[in-house]
Amino acid sequence: MTPTRRASLADLPLSGGGKKWTITSARQVLTETLRQAGIDSPEADARLLIAHALSLDRAALTTNSERLLRAEEIAAIDALAARRRKREPVSRILGQREFWSLPLRVSKDVLVPRPDTETLVEAALDFIGVARDRPLRILDIGTGSGALMLALLSELKNATGVATDISAAAIEVARGNAKHLGLSARCGFVVCDIAAGVSGPFDLIVSNPPYIEHGAIAALDPEVRDYDPALALDGGPDGLDAYRAIADEAPRLLAPGGRLIVELGAGQEPAVRALFTKAGMTVADARPDLAGIPRALSASLAPQLRHDQDAMRPA
Ligand code: GLN
Repeated sequence: MTPTRRASLADLPLSGGGKKWTITSARQVLTETLRQAGIDSPEADARLLIAHALSLDRAALTTNSERLLRAEEIAAIDALAARRRKREPVSRILGQREFWSLPLRVSKDVLVPRPDTETLVEAALDFIGVARDRPLRILDIGTGSGALMLALLSELKNATGVATDISAAAIEVARGNAKHLGLSARCGFVVCDIAAGVSGPFDLIVSNPPYIEHGAIAALDPEVRDYDPALALDGGPDGLDAYRAIADEAPRLLAPGGRLIVELGAGQEPAVRALFTKAGMTVADARPDLAGIPRALSASLAPQLRHDQDAMRPA
């Protein structure tokens, strides 16, 4: 391929030139275009975008690989390619992302759920243990798409919960996902800051709060910086604002023996541990994600604190 050809391919990889394209040749060219644009997973992205443009699933894409594309199909693929080249994440272009094997709808108003966050689901299920049929009460603070709450409700058949978000638009997305997954009857949704106006007790409180230091946002990948909502990322000057607010609220909301599990940004374990300890909670070691980064921090009401309270009660 000559450099000149490469440049024009990058603009509109398929349209123009009156060339005939099969699904296979379109996939190859789109993969190359995305690779040149610095996209990490050009092959998978090209496959997903073409499948979406043609409304075909993965298998149909393969069985129809030599089918010739019509002009409007070529235009549709090019339109999606242009969005991806501007670093819009594939899940946003598709409007859907899988979390804990659940298909979730995502909009511009919610963070795209990440695999890292599944570490919190694992930590929560470990905490619940074998007694998964208990009528547990769950709170998800800053639910976004509803990912954490819906994953937990899908596993814990007798659990009920409350999911909060400061964004009314996010709550609409979460509510829609709950409905779509048949989980609405077990979950209430509240538009509020952290857990204002919510009363416990909860056996389990989970949260993936905004935790990026304000000053670090500009250096994030464009997929995150330009497309995830700032409200879901920005943790204030030191990234810890939401953890402070959660530390203030969790002790009043946790049931005795209950557990708070929060997602951490890389390197935040010591600071969040200190905040939660200061708020009177006992903090366990953080559970690492698949990359080995401490990701899910668990805390409970300190037994010491409960004893003190008991001791203060009149006999
Ligand atoms: N995990 C996201 C990122 O690092 C941030 C999500 C958050 O602030 N909770 O890009």
